[in-house]
Amino acid sequence: MLRLLRYLAGVGLLVAGAVWLADRPGAVSMNWLGWQIETSMPVLMVLLLLAGFLLFWLARIFGFLVGMPNVFGRMLAERKQRKGYEALTKGLVAVAAGDPKEALRQARQADSYLGTPPLSLLLAAQAAQLAGDEEGATHHFEAMQKRPETEFLALRGLLTQSLKKGERAKALDYARKAYALKPDADWVFAALSDLLIEDKAWEEALDLTAKAAKRHLIGDVAAKRRKALLTLEAAMQASDAKHGAKLAQTAFDLAPDLPAAAIAAARRLKETGQEAKAARLLEKAWKANPHPSLHQAMMGLLEGEEALKQELAVERLVSGAADHPESRIAVARAALKARLWGKARSSLAPLTANAPEARVIALMAAIDEGEGKLSDSVVWLRRLGEATPDPAWVCSSCGHTCEDWSSSCPACHGFDALTWKRPERSLQLLDV
Ligand SMILES: [Zn+2]
Repeated sequence: MLRLLRYLAGVGLLVAGAVWLADRPGAVSMNWLGWQIETSMPVLMVLLLLAGFLLFWLARIFGFLVGMPNVFGRMLAERKQRKGYEALTKGLVAVAAGDPKEALRQARQADSYLGTPPLSLLLAAQAAQLAGDEEGATHHFEAMQKRPETEFLALRGLLTQSLKKGERAKALDYARKAYALKPDADWVFAALSDLLIEDKAWEEALDLTAKAAKRHLIGDVAAKRRKALLTLEAAMQASDAKHGAKLAQTAFDLAPDLPAAAIAAARRLKETGQEAKAARLLEKAWKANPHPSLHQAMMGLLEGEEALKQELAVERLVSGAADHPESRIAVARAALKARLWGKARSSLAPLTANAPEARVIALMAAIDEGEGKLSDSVVWLRRLGEATPDPAWVCSSCGHTCEDWSSSCPACHGFDALTWKRPERSLQLLDV
């Protein structure tokens, strides 16, 4: 409708123009370069219009011819880009399908079509990794590291490669750089934390844990436990006894159920001449979590004291949980040492029924031997073969069993992986 109206308006204007010209006749005479032209005004107007029209089209054709190379170039560039992205897609599919040859071929094609944009670099690095060409992958990751948009991704690739090659110092450096770029990324926190712990950089690991807790990368309970372990390690590493005692006390306050924290704190207190305070701290720890290592620590504090005095101190130690099996065993040990046979026997009595543990059997044999009942002692010792295994520190990740606690598993280096429980076979039997 609009087009029809426009057409009718055009025709109307033309007719009006023609009528206007016809109403105003006139003659034009021109003399140019020996040419004499005589014509009427309407004819001249029509000729001028035609000349203008012709000039307009000539200019358009000229512009098109001048712009031809650009158009052609643009078409070529678009074609190259399309082919490049096709190669990228095929390459990424080949990586996903685990086909290193095809991935490498497509990576080279993508590179030749696209130059070295981030995506083709990433594809080239992944293809090299898939083909086992670690050096090639490193080369591509390093190129990616120089570009701000791929730096973080490159650091992840370089970190993974360093870990694979066992280059822990390099890996730690990459993890620190990645953390500086994106401190909120889960994998960065996990990798940096593991590497710092392995490097025994306790203070830095503590700082990282505190920041991760603030960013909610780690839950409150887990963060508290982690802080306790890291503070404990820092306490054991501290060369200054007072500073060490302060750190160990903090670790104990954070995790009173962690015997190692109480033991470290007691040791540091003893070093600074505060034996009574150390004993009180061990008693508190026993109440929170009765553990044989606390008994050992108490015996360390009582070194050189008479056996009877030691026995009294052990009774005080366990008083917060007197009926706990560990309390009974600790009292029996101390009583045995003090030659208090009756007390040792009565303390163990509830633990001797129903498949007693190997350590209970060994203690009963020692009590009988102490009292001169050698045949009874032998009867107890014969039962050792079928004894229930004694509890030990067992790694929840790899199952490694050990007598002494450490913050990292000695076998798999898993942090806070050791739990106190009954292993499938006792350590004593494994040692035979
Ligand atoms: Zn382990």
